[in-house]
Amino acid sequence: MKAVVLVDKKKMEIQDVQTPVPKDDEVLLKIRASGICTNDIRDYLGSKYSLPRIGGHEYSGEIVALGKDVDINQFSVGQRAVSYIIPACGECHYCRMDKQNLCEKAPTSKIFFSDEGISGYGGFAEYITIKSRDVYTLPDNISFETAAFAEPVACVLNSLNHAKIEIGDDVVVIGGGAMGQLHVMLAKMRGARVILSEPDEKRRELAKTYGCDIVFNPFVSDPVEFIAESTKSKGADVVFNTTSNPIVAEQAVKMTGPSGRCIMFSSIHPNEPISVDAGYVHSKETIITGSVSPTIKSFNQAVNIISKDMIDVSRLIFDTYDYIEYEKAFKAAIKPDTLKVILKFD
Ligand SMILES: [Zn+2]
Ligand SMILES: [Zn+2]
Repeated sequence: MKAVVLVDKKKMEIQDVQTPVPKDDEVLLKIRASGICTNDIRDYLGSKYSLPRIGGHEYSGEIVALGKDVDINQFSVGQRAVSYIIPACGECHYCRMDKQNLCEKAPTSKIFFSDEGISGYGGFAEYITIKSRDVYTLPDNISFETAAFAEPVACVLNSLNHAKIEIGDDVVVIGGGAMGQLHVMLAKMRGARVILSEPDEKRRELAKTYGCDIVFNPFVSDPVEFIAESTKSKGADVVFNTTSNPIVAEQAVKMTGPSGRCIMFSSIHPNEPISVDAGYVHSKETIITGSVSPTIKSFNQAVNIISKDMIDVSRLIFDTYDYIEYEKAFKAAIKPDTLKVILKFD
């Protein structure tokens, strides 16, 4: 099969690699659509994981073969499917606490480091094998491009599950990229009043089409003051920081009001410490937490809402490219103003 392989810093190529054969408890998926994630871009610009590497963890496709132990009442050839991509062991403390995203053993997986062979999630390839317990099927009317949003939507739902939004809450979303827009959409579904901080006008307008109540440009209005003014000096009930800048992370904490929840959704680059008013956190019972990857629960929720056609992610797709055009696709994805770029493997 063909795969888009990262062989060196900023160097990818299409290689012929062995098509995987499903083990008894696995299915073989013919990948159709594979979203390019910020993590893929970071790997491309200089991976901290072993090379060669096949990235791509936001993929969807069609089941083409089943291992002999796979339940044929559950799965069949021709079904559309996506995969939970964390190789959670199911046996460690965190897995047993329903925090598969924090699994102790996952970081030792060949997804990150492979002594001999290829590291990575393997979604930038024509085929992939998946343990059936990680396979989630979707109805035929859901496009492969939409289905490829299962993983990003699941990451955002994990973030929302931390936020415990109550109806009428003031929710601030910092950053209007694809993940920020998903936060807007899903916070609206939970009944919040949503305020987006985003410098790019097109992204602010896009958020409005998703029901965002208030948008502002943080380069024009001071973001902490703007949130204070918009909330009668109360501060936000929930702040989602989807940007990686530590200065913005500090502002996110300052926007959070009494009893509020501040969620660091994005990783922070460079990861410089920020200052936090611990006295305020104490006396106002604010919660500062993070959100990383999806849990099985949030992944299942994501597949559920996508399958029921409850969210429209089509406006988040900047462009789709045939995998042969991977260079063009990455070039587009790296530009800071693009939303989701998808590689197609037809
Ligand atoms: Zn991703
Ligand atoms: Zn585990």
